[in-house]
Amino acid sequence: MEPTSLFLFGLTTGVAVSAGARYVENLVMSRSVSSSPALPPLADRPRRRSVRYQDEVHRPDDDDSGDDIPSALVRLRKQFNVPAEKLTQIVRHMVAEMKKGLHDDHQTMKMIPSHVIRRPNGNETGSFLALDLGGSNFRVCEVILEGNGITRMRQKKFTVREDLKTGGGAELFDFLADCVASFMAETENKFNKEERKKLGFTFSFPVQQTSINAGVLMSWTKGFHASDVVGNDVVQLLQEAFHRKNVNVNVTALVNDTTGTLISHAYQSPNTYIGVILGTGTNAAYVEQLGNIPKLKDAASFNSDEMIINTEWGAFDQENVVLPFTEYDFKVDRASINPRQQAFEKVISGMYLGEIVRLVMLDLIETGELFAGKSSEILKTKYQFETAYMSRIERDHTLDLSDTKAVLEDIVKIPKTSRTDRVIVKGICELVGRRSARLSAAGIAAIVTKINRLDGCTVAVDGSLFELYPHFANRMRDALREILGLSAENIVLEQARDGSGQGAALIAALAEE
Ligand code: ADP
Ligand code: MG
Repeated sequence: MEPTSLFLFGLTTGVAVSAGARYVENLVMSRSVSSSPALPPLADRPRRRSVRYQDEVHRPDDDDSGDDIPSALVRLRKQFNVPAEKLTQIVRHMVAEMKKGLHDDHQTMKMIPSHVIRRPNGNETGSFLALDLGGSNFRVCEVILEGNGITRMRQKKFTVREDLKTGGGAELFDFLADCVASFMAETENKFNKEERKKLGFTFSFPVQQTSINAGVLMSWTKGFHASDVVGNDVVQLLQEAFHRKNVNVNVTALVNDTTGTLISHAYQSPNTYIGVILGTGTNAAYVEQLGNIPKLKDAASFNSDEMIINTEWGAFDQENVVLPFTEYDFKVDRASINPRQQAFEKVISGMYLGEIVRLVMLDLIETGELFAGKSSEILKTKYQFETAYMSRIERDHTLDLSDTKAVLEDIVKIPKTSRTDRVIVKGICELVGRRSARLSAAGIAAIVTKINRLDGCTVAVDGSLFELYPHFANRMRDALREILGLSAENIVLEQARDGSGQGAALIAALAEE
């Protein structure tokens, strides 16, 4: 078990980190989280990290004028376009599915009550551990809430090997406990051996939460498949691993990354009602009225009017009623480790976009329309065309698409590409990338509609896809306008960061009260 990166320490106050500086974030550590009175009034504070919308050369989806469009692209465009009417239809269906999920268990959208009934006020204090499992890295963090909006954090990242993701559950949880032990050992002097550390566990998979620190895994997603975990309480599994490994830690909160994102962003932006993840996977959480959750039988026992709901929207429409699945999407789905599940996730999230593009390219190679019919071993290998390549290609504005050439020839090892080849590949990325952004926007529009916040609502969005994929936010905004008209202006998309670390610690702190 080797730490793969970063062991850091930092201090932040109410000052926001500038946009686009994701990796700087890891160096500077956590950001502000407070609307506490110690901070200057909002108007005097530095500008928050609202997403700035770069100007995209705006090309309506059905505009075929201008350059000669290769016929392959014309054909693909018909398959991958999602017109405004379709988006509206998706929104309507999702609102209906959300209501079903709030009413009964075992619905497509699981609409999981998070048991988080309070949002932070900035005065929370204390030192907490946080674990983040379910993203591309596994992280262990120590978050110190100092009150008055000051947070300090240290973290260490680990890679979860593929054999652990798909092996025995006990080995996976032992690995997590080992990572925590190694983290604590490196700062031994800081940890009082007698004191039992409280830990917030961010576990970003569909969990049937039964209390703030108990929940049963319903199914694995995102490439995880460890045995003997589905159907069990993951907090108990983690606690048992700590016991086996003699690690003095108490798991006091079980958190989904979407809920963490919402909570940690609500700290600085009180108007935040929705948290969205657009990374390896996709999901969203939002603030619901307790009275609108009929399946929550003990609603009256919560001393609150509201509760955060984890929608698990990645599963939306796995019956395939409204989503515009193409033949390529069906192929990705059939070859995945979870066929017929996570339909929405498979057309949106970073794990799958590159794979869709890869399959389209292979198809065009077959028909002789791409790379003179030649392929490469890399291109023939599942999941080897990364979504990050799409970002690079979409950002390539050189006349002869030289960076696209570098990706295709140097990385993917296609023997030779023509300019037309590269135009086609860039066009494919654009179609798949835009579709993802538009469908994510439809999801957000559905939630905003459901909670009737068309007059104003901040949406905290975390994840590399949103942050690093060019034009992603613009394309979402375009779609929101098409769906919501002028009201779209009231929906503010903001880049969120580290909900899964800081958010988990905050929720552990809120759970104490
Ligand atoms: P996670 O969702 O795993 O917690 P991230 O939000 O960082 O973590 O998302 C990682 C995913 O984002 C990767 O699996 C990949 O699909 C995608 N990704 C990584 N880099 C880029 C990029 N430059 N552009 C678009 N997508 C990216
Ligand atoms: Mg994440």
